[in-house]
Amino acid sequence: MSISVWLDETHAAHGSDADDIEVDILIVGAGISGASTAYWLREAGLNVALLDKGDIAAGASGRNAGFITCGSVEHYTRQVSRHGADLAHTLWQHSQDNLAWIRDRIVGEGGVDCDFRQVGTYSLAGTPHELEELRSSAALMAERGIPVTVVDEAHIAEHLGARGFHGGVLYHDDGECHPVKLVRGIAGLSGATLYSHHEVRRLESLGDGMRVHTQRAVFRAQFVVLATNGYSSLVHPWFADKIYPTRGQILVTEPVAPMMAAPCYCNHVLDYFRQLPDGRVLIGGFRQLAKDAEVGVADTPNLEIHDALEAFLRRHFASLEKARVDYRWAGIMGFSQDGMPMVGSLPGEPHVYFIGGFTGHGIGQAFRVAKVLADVMLKGESAGPYSARRLG
Ligand SMILES: Cc1cc2nc3c(=O)[nH]c(=O)nc-3n(C[C@H](O)[C@H](O)[C@H](O)COP(=O)(O)OP(=O)(O)OC[C@H]3O[C@@H](n4cnc5c(N)ncnc54)[C@H](O)[C@@H]3O)c2cc1C
Repeated sequence: MSISVWLDETHAAHGSDADDIEVDILIVGAGISGASTAYWLREAGLNVALLDKGDIAAGASGRNAGFITCGSVEHYTRQVSRHGADLAHTLWQHSQDNLAWIRDRIVGEGGVDCDFRQVGTYSLAGTPHELEELRSSAALMAERGIPVTVVDEAHIAEHLGARGFHGGVLYHDDGECHPVKLVRGIAGLSGATLYSHHEVRRLESLGDGMRVHTQRAVFRAQFVVLATNGYSSLVHPWFADKIYPTRGQILVTEPVAPMMAAPCYCNHVLDYFRQLPDGRVLIGGFRQLAKDAEVGVADTPNLEIHDALEAFLRRHFASLEKARVDYRWAGIMGFSQDGMPMVGSLPGEPHVYFIGGFTGHGIGQAFRVAKVLADVMLKGESAGPYSARRLG
């Protein structure tokens, strides 16, 4: 985060205590993780404000595919190799909590209409080798009582209208949503005051709290939560080697006749597609084609990747060979070193907490992980596997 003196419209606002907007907790970033943190903090009866440099869900939370995944963040065999069997299972259970709490608290009790459907998701194999890995994953998951079914090419053709895959698995617990409606709904239920178009330019430590300067106002808060995910290193340099801004690309077609029963990942969870409630087909991924270029915070569509997405569409779906492409966009994800989200407080800044590093899967995790952060802040509990201390 840097700003030249010429662009700094807060000059007049700096310094005057009388101008401060006082809150107990100021959350910077009104995406799924900021809104979810506000939701859990409201239970303590605190005065919470949610602030964003754009509108609500202006970042990745308004630019994703809307998958709410439990089992399919990565093939389960890889989760077990990376984290060990017990932690892999715990993480899976947390993502299951995430989905169940969205379904029961936000959609059910809260009455939020976000096109939520618990229809499962597929993971499809691009090669025979990947199919073997998916079969092994399914066997490991079944041992843990996780509902998953191996499917063949005929099932894929019938339920997804797709060709050219070697088989796959169906994770029965997963779901999908309209992510912007979801974030707006969570923020609304939180009761937090929303300040849109306030870009945080400076964090000032006061010893017993923080002063936060935006281009339009100065806030005074006992605690600040940075929920800025892929943009975090622009807000504080501590994140530079912890959360890496990483671009993802999506295209969406015109509406077509119903053809897909559930959202799908394929090619080792790198590429994905789903049909939206109005019939449009969304396809995303292929950042592996330009990994070095797909970094940074500029959300510009990458034409090489969009050509690949379109070629994929024509190759795998006979019925979409001539479908018009209506939307193309990019969004900025926050990748962590080990693929896991992190929460904690900034070293040397006990009044500044953070949540981020969702590595492309925040809709499937953030509501649950935000509860961990709220428990750290309000009850002094440990962040467990999400503690940023693991990163040194
Ligand atoms: C193309 C794409 C597809 C994806 N598909 C899926 C999917 O299907 N399922 C899934 O689970 N996840 C998916 N993700 C990932 C998911 O979108 C993110 O993990 C999640 O949205 C992160 O939420 P967040 O609230 O932490 O960050 P964000 O939504 O990025 O929110 C951060 C907010 O901080 C604000 N901000 C930044 N700097 C400042 C500042 N200085 N002052 C004030 N405000 C600031 C930004 O404007 C932004 O609104 C996808 C991401 C992309 C890009």
